[in-house]
Amino acid sequence: MRLECPGCQGIKEIPDNTKIGNIIECELCAGMKFKLNSDSKGFKLIPIHYASCPDCGKMLEVPTNSTAGDKLFCCGKQHKLTFEYGAWALTESKK
Ligand SMILES: [Zn+2]
Ligand SMILES: [Zn+2]
Repeated sequence: MRLECPGCQGIKEIPDNTKIGNIIECELCAGMKFKLNSDSKGFKLIPIHYASCPDCGKMLEVPTNSTAGDKLFCCGKQHKLTFEYGAWALTESKK
């Protein structure tokens, strides 16, 4: 199937065995990743956002319905999610 990439508006060829929730990478969008999803209009690609752990630098997936102030868990701690300058970031929670 063919789907429009929400990042670059380019048409991407998606393998037919791709399932909902599978991750598609777009090389034209600097390696941005998208998740295959569907709604009433059919299949679509949803951008996946990442925020790096302030302790180990690992890129953690930010769930699509997240809002600033949510917590992500890594390194045995909870990190607070913030949204600044159009990107998600994590800050260490106060001890
Ligand atoms: Zn793209
Ligand atoms: Zn970590």
